[in-house]
Amino acid sequence: MRPNDSIAKPARKVLLIENVQADRYLLRNWLQAEKMEVYEADDIHTGIAACLTFQPDLILLELRLPTWSGYEVIRRLKNDPKTLSIPVIFIADSALTGEKAKGIDMGAVDFISKPFDPVELVARVGSALRTKALLDLLEQRAHLDGLTELGNRFALRDRFPYEWESCRREENPMSVFIADLDHFKKINDQFGHAAGDEVLRQSALTLRRSVREGDFVARYGGEEFVVVAPNCDLDGAVQLAERFRGEIADLKVCFRSQPIQVTCSVGVALVSDRAGSDALDVLDQADRALFHCKDAGRNAVWVWDPVRGGAIPSNRPASEALARAVATVDV
Ligand code: GH3
Ligand code: MG
Ligand code: MG
Repeated sequence: MRPNDSIAKPARKVLLIENVQADRYLLRNWLQAEKMEVYEADDIHTGIAACLTFQPDLILLELRLPTWSGYEVIRRLKNDPKTLSIPVIFIADSALTGEKAKGIDMGAVDFISKPFDPVELVARVGSALRTKALLDLLEQRAHLDGLTELGNRFALRDRFPYEWESCRREENPMSVFIADLDHFKKINDQFGHAAGDEVLRQSALTLRRSVREGDFVARYGGEEFVVVAPNCDLDGAVQLAERFRGEIADLKVCFRSQPIQVTCSVGVALVSDRAGSDALDVLDQADRALFHCKDAGRNAVWVWDPVRGGAIPSNRPASEALARAVATVDV
């Protein structure tokens, strides 16, 4: 699951990793009777693969599997960021107290002994799923900006390396831009804080509408927004940024019958191998381009030129601007 994609998903998907067919059959019937979606795996490799494809909300894991022990499975699941947060309940025949304690110490949320009592089993599974749903909700809220409902800095921190890894694997470019509303303080001063909030909300909506599907948008600071644009070179990012800048300039925010005009400045940068998966380097470059944009008068898009190590205005396509830049501003 991509960071920040878990919006209000009901937690009802259970993965059974159990080699005993009769037990799988019982479990599946009881859980399906409770309207849970069940995926069955009779070996470890199918089970681990299903963690990514089926994306379960809960795993019921047999302790005594023929190839590896369930302990080895849970060790792997808890060491992988992609599966770390999936709760695991161990199931086993005549488990000793020490075995149960070990399983729970290794990260299982519960241990259910065979032979199963269906009422108890369904209650324990339901309890684990409710906890998972709450954790999903908390995680989702922790990654959302409360005012604009865009991703926040935590979401950006999680999402950036994920997107960059995918682009790098496919040898595709990736760009980012930072947009900062111009003279926003004056809007607050003139129209009040609530009006400023409304401008932020509408700017966020405009930004969300103007980017492509698959681009990631976050509120980075008070009146700053970041867009991560996977599979997008500098030209593409400049076009995106220009589109947003134009739409913001055309935006007529009406607050208590008062029209409010707003503009924004944008700094664009291309993610490079050198920056690696560290968002800070490339955001720093976009921020420097933004700084020059502000300095040069605002309501424009400036680009970080990686070759010259400076920022240039982009009132024409980026590649042309980069090629023809007469005076690159050194930072
Ligand atoms: P510049 O064009 O140089 O960016 O100037 P600016 O006024 O936009 O920038 P400055 O950093 O001076 O002021 C940003 C203001 O944004 C100050 C702060 O009170 C306001 N702000 C930050 N967060 C919020 C918020 O959530 N709501 C509102 N209404 N205002 C906010
Ligand atoms: Mg500003
Ligand atoms: Mg600012």
